[in-house]
Amino acid sequence: MWEFSTEPEFQEKLDWMERFVREEVEPLDLLFPGGGDVYDTGNGAARAILGPLREQVKARGLWACHLGPELGGPGYGQLKLALMNEILGRSYWAPTVFGTAAPDTGNAEILAMFGTSEQKSRYLQPLLDGDIVSAFSMTEPHAGADPKEFTCRAWQDGDEWVIDGEKWFTSNARYAAFLIVMAVTSPDAPPHQRMSMFIVPTETPGIEIKRNVATMGERDDLDEGIHGYIRYREVRVPADAMLGGPGQGFAVAQARLGGGRVHHAMRTVGQCRRALDMMCERALSRRTQGELLADKQLVQAMIADSWIELEQYRLMVLHTAWVIDTQPHGAARTQIAMCKVAMARIYHNIVERALHLHGSLGATGELPLGRMWMHVPTLALADGPTEVHQVTVAKQVLRRYSPAEGLFPSEHIPPKLAAAREKYAHILKEYAQ
Ligand SMILES: Cc1cc2nc3c(=O)[nH]c(=O)nc-3n(C[C@H](O)[C@H](O)[C@H](O)COP(=O)(O)OP(=O)(O)OC[C@H]3O[C@@H](n4cnc5c(N)ncnc54)[C@H](O)[C@@H]3O)c2cc1C
Repeated sequence: MWEFSTEPEFQEKLDWMERFVREEVEPLDLLFPGGGDVYDTGNGAARAILGPLREQVKARGLWACHLGPELGGPGYGQLKLALMNEILGRSYWAPTVFGTAAPDTGNAEILAMFGTSEQKSRYLQPLLDGDIVSAFSMTEPHAGADPKEFTCRAWQDGDEWVIDGEKWFTSNARYAAFLIVMAVTSPDAPPHQRMSMFIVPTETPGIEIKRNVATMGERDDLDEGIHGYIRYREVRVPADAMLGGPGQGFAVAQARLGGGRVHHAMRTVGQCRRALDMMCERALSRRTQGELLADKQLVQAMIADSWIELEQYRLMVLHTAWVIDTQPHGAARTQIAMCKVAMARIYHNIVERALHLHGSLGATGELPLGRMWMHVPTLALADGPTEVHQVTVAKQVLRRYSPAEGLFPSEHIPPKLAAAREKYAHILKEYAQ
């Protein structure tokens, strides 16, 4: 995609991935535009194509590249994963074909980190093998960005936990074999210790998917929505269904969200690059007033700005990946929040310019750009809205500073000038005559 100095053997893998995604996987985006989330499109055709493609990926050692060797993955680390995800990001189906689709990746991560050996063999292994899909049920209809507002409750009754409440936007719930549900277990505890996480098989009595909510571009009348609005009506699970300890729900959720955000950020680089490629091809193909669009300086500005923004963003994502690889757990928190904020803005800017340069064609559904455009709001909301991540960045940045000691800022010129005069008074005096 971009020239990047890596080992030849790894570069060879990237080259294979790029060719494979373009030639074998992108057709799935056109045939089954529900994307990688839609495993079962009714007649089984998508699965019939998916299976052999996955076998090829596994044979190349490229299955579930986000996983370390302890979980059966190749353990490339985040930096190399970033280069791979840029390629996968160009196609909606590619993460599914390569075993790196959300929310399964994040769910696998927390099962690996917090699961008991019984939970791992029952849920984690089939998830890693791509035999089942899962869902993460945290957001509620009345509260999303602030988990402290959640009210879905769980209480103990003998050997069982009983879960009662509503959840909203549980992606893939309709296909999932199990749900990971966050519920309030100690309402009087400090806010971050009030909740616990539960693994709930989807066939458990009392789970009602009220609606599969569709996002823009998906049709309700064709039942294309995949985000479950779920009612948990006194759903009973055994005591060992808890993932992590009591009151650890918040910590478990945090553990999965960082990785998810940065992987989305990596894939968004690929989507942006695809839009930029289209913009440049169009600029070199379309004539107006006797010259190519590419010869118009206003168009050149659009292309330059897009390239500069994307290069800045890409380097930010790669730097974040490097911090995750080389520094202790949690060190990349600010960088991940920065990527999350930048991701939606850059994607918005580049897709909008690419779309605009295509004129009326850009406003149709005949190019991939229309679908990208409808994806813009999602990027700014899923995994937490932009503002929440701005707050994280600002808090971390402000920690590096302290208030001015006096009434005026520390950069106030009059006292600094007086100090400078005093410091060099002997020289200034000598040269004053
Ligand atoms: C495509 C998609 C997939 C999703 N998948 C899942 C999933 O699988 N599981 C799941 O549990 N959830 C999922 N979500 C939900 C997602 O996590 C929430 O939408 C998100 O956390 C925001 O919550 P909310 O929608 O309730 O918005 P709210 O919390 O109501 O926020 C609305 C707006 O208020 C403003 N705002 C909020 N907080 C602040 C603040 N602190 N400072 C300033 N302004 C603020 C922002 O402008 C924000 O956009 C998904 C969402 C989308 C769009």
